[in-house]
Amino acid sequence: MTTDPTLAELTGKATATRTRPAYGHDALITCDRLVRIFSADDVEVQALQGLDLLVREGELMALVGASGSGKSTLMNILAGLDTPTAGAARVAGHDLLTMTAKDRLHYRRKVVGFIWQQTSRNLLPYLTAAQNITLPLQLAGERRRSRARTERALELLELLEVADCRDRRPHQMSGGQQQRVAIAVALACDPAVLLADEPTGELDSHTAQQIFAAFRTANEELGTTIVIVTHDRAVATEVRRTVAIRDGRTSTEVLRRSEVDETTGHETLVAREYAMLDRAGRLQLPAEYTSALGMRDRVALDLEEDHITVWPDDIGHT
Ligand code: ADP
Ligand code: MG
Repeated sequence: MTTDPTLAELTGKATATRTRPAYGHDALITCDRLVRIFSADDVEVQALQGLDLLVREGELMALVGASGSGKSTLMNILAGLDTPTAGAARVAGHDLLTMTAKDRLHYRRKVVGFIWQQTSRNLLPYLTAAQNITLPLQLAGERRRSRARTERALELLELLEVADCRDRRPHQMSGGQQQRVAIAVALACDPAVLLADEPTGELDSHTAQQIFAAFRTANEELGTTIVIVTHDRAVATEVRRTVAIRDGRTSTEVLRRSEVDETTGHETLVAREYAMLDRAGRLQLPAEYTSALGMRDRVALDLEEDHITVWPDDIGHT
């Protein structure tokens, strides 16, 4: 008996549609209705209010949002430094809510790398650049010999164009050099994900550009998935995807793709802003849009063949 491959494919497809895959099943980072409530002195702060986010393997993306919108809270959870109050969060197959203390240690040492805004927080002041990189390899119990670890350190310093800093201590380097060494430290154990919370916040725009180039190199050369929280407009416009967080939720997303002009051959990045639609069908409209048309409380919807129109609630007012 011969099997018709198309038929096999068809039945395969039918099964796939019947058992709908779980939300974010193929993403490297999945945040599903993530909630983090801080309570202190009877006051509750809802830092994350049901945040949904998916990040694909190999992506380099930016997170933006006003101060206090929950960006650092999210990063600390993804880094395994804090635990969510409710919801689900998975990174590279690790469930961040049910992880044991032992898993958590392994997770922080080997699965994620982290870069802080404060350059001084990323490196140990009494160690050289090379030693700062070999330390996490030693801590992670790498069986490599000391020489191999040093070689790995030098490779990373070279990749990030700070090989000349190998024997310098942090105070002998510029802020930009320190941050690039910090990226090398975070990459030492070959993590699946690199997280950076405002890594260029203390740097001038020219240096920030170099740091961003270093992230891009890590992403392109090593394939590391990278999430960068940033205030820097220039950085945010250089990545293909920028997700905005508002009041502890992902609100809008800007996707950029390159378009080549057929006659001139010039390549330009075309950006398009999207609103996030959650699984309950909720949509957050940009405040500029709603205030421009005086929309509040409720709006009228019309379903057209290929789009939906949103009208101000005129009837309600008359
Ligand atoms: P962002 O990084 O976007 O500026 P954060 O995640 O730091 O925002 O903070 C989000 C909200 O949670 C803010 O209102 C902040 O005051 C509050 N918050 C953050 N960390 C704590 C904490 N440890 N205890 C109490 N409130 C906190
Ligand atoms: Mg922050």
